[in-house]
Amino acid sequence: MSDLDAFRAEVHEWLDANAPKEIRNLGFSAIDGTWGGRRARFDPPQMKDWLERMAHKGWTAPTWPREYGGGGLDNAHAKVIAQEMATLKLPPPLTGFGLSMIGPTLLRFGTEAQKKEHLTKICRGEIRWCQGYSEPDAGSDLASLQTRAVRDGDHFVITGQKVWTSYADLSDWIFALVRSDPEAKKQEGITFILIDMDDPAVSVAPISLISGKSPFCETRFDGVRVPVENVVGEINGGWTVAKALLGHERSMIADAFGGAGGARTEKGKARGSHLGAMARDYLDAAEGPLPDASLRHEIVQSEMDTRAFGLTVQRSRDAAKAGHQPGAESSLFKVYATEVNKRRTELAVRIAGPHGLGWEAPGFEEDELERTRAWLRARGNSIEGGTSEIQLNIIAKRVLGLPD
Ligand SMILES: Cc1cc2nc3c(=O)[nH]c(=O)nc-3n(C[C@H](O)[C@H](O)[C@H](O)COP(=O)(O)OP(=O)(O)OC[C@H]3O[C@@H](n4cnc5c(N)ncnc54)[C@H](O)[C@@H]3O)c2cc1C
Repeated sequence: MSDLDAFRAEVHEWLDANAPKEIRNLGFSAIDGTWGGRRARFDPPQMKDWLERMAHKGWTAPTWPREYGGGGLDNAHAKVIAQEMATLKLPPPLTGFGLSMIGPTLLRFGTEAQKKEHLTKICRGEIRWCQGYSEPDAGSDLASLQTRAVRDGDHFVITGQKVWTSYADLSDWIFALVRSDPEAKKQEGITFILIDMDDPAVSVAPISLISGKSPFCETRFDGVRVPVENVVGEINGGWTVAKALLGHERSMIADAFGGAGGARTEKGKARGSHLGAMARDYLDAAEGPLPDASLRHEIVQSEMDTRAFGLTVQRSRDAAKAGHQPGAESSLFKVYATEVNKRRTELAVRIAGPHGLGWEAPGFEEDELERTRAWLRARGNSIEGGTSEIQLNIIAKRVLGLPD
């Protein structure tokens, strides 16, 4: 038996013994995901045990070093854990920007003290993070950001406004870009800094989306005093850190919409077969080929695109050496993931016909209302994490080598 086979048997046995029965068969996101933090919500409540047991094993972040709370595993072993979890249809014990964005960035750029302090808490789901990049006049042109950081002894005093800060109202810490040298060229006067949002000089105000939800906020810093040791990378060298983090953000978005194997869905079923099952329901066609040939074609196309995309991302990961940092290819994956998700949610709405655009009950089932919101939410995919136009510019310049 190979080392990996033996590990697989061990993982399967451990998961089977330790995954609470209430979370089995939930799949990827039958629940909304556990984001952790000081105000963590566990749904169902047994997710708390699941998180604690997995964190104790180091399997909330299997490839991170053990001294920072991770599992110390290579990619091949980490993939075995993911596969065995998928076999048992177990949800991830933890999700969020800690694991997917700031964690990998600290592993690369953080000081030893920052890694010890923050990575361990991320792995245990104790602190929830949000991202303070965008400002009212700095989105695609992020380097124009104006939030000021003025040095005062061993602190920076931070004043300014961020916008579109996802989940700021639920988060404990924010990683932010601030202007520490207003005289320098714009990319060269930016610092990447970690801020505890418990500080009374940090305030957040939720913004409503077209989908009716308020997943993001305006975040204001009104003279927040932040210790200099919270700077990640060099003072005025934050642009390099910021760009590296964006690579992780784009990979996260690509994964969320099918890049990690193409088998995730709103209800924990394979996305393609979910559309197929939906069509059978709505067209009242329990058996045989679906009566609508063009719909049949579109569903199969959507399944194939999702699956092919998942496998491509997986192949690119497998080919990458352990510790590989996402490069410009993350832009490619982000654009494609966005399009696949937009087309899929659009198709789901069309399949549902008159039940496809429900806004409130009565007259619509809960999952029909969710579907309308998912369709509207998908419009934001081509904006968040850098717009599709910006990703296409990056692909043109850095992947294809086209002139400006
Ligand atoms: C759902 C969602 C969640 C988000 N979460 C966060 C978050 O947590 N933290 C955070 O900091 N930000 C977040 N954002 C903000 C996001 O990063 C910005 O919206 C995005 O970078 C675009 O910036 P902007 O909105 O200012 O648009 P603009 O930059 O003003 O762009 C407007 C339009 O012009 C186009 N455009 C601009 N420049 C160019 C160019 N050079 N070439 C071609 N076209 C161009 C854009 O593609 C876009 O279509 C989120 C956004 C969304 C939608």
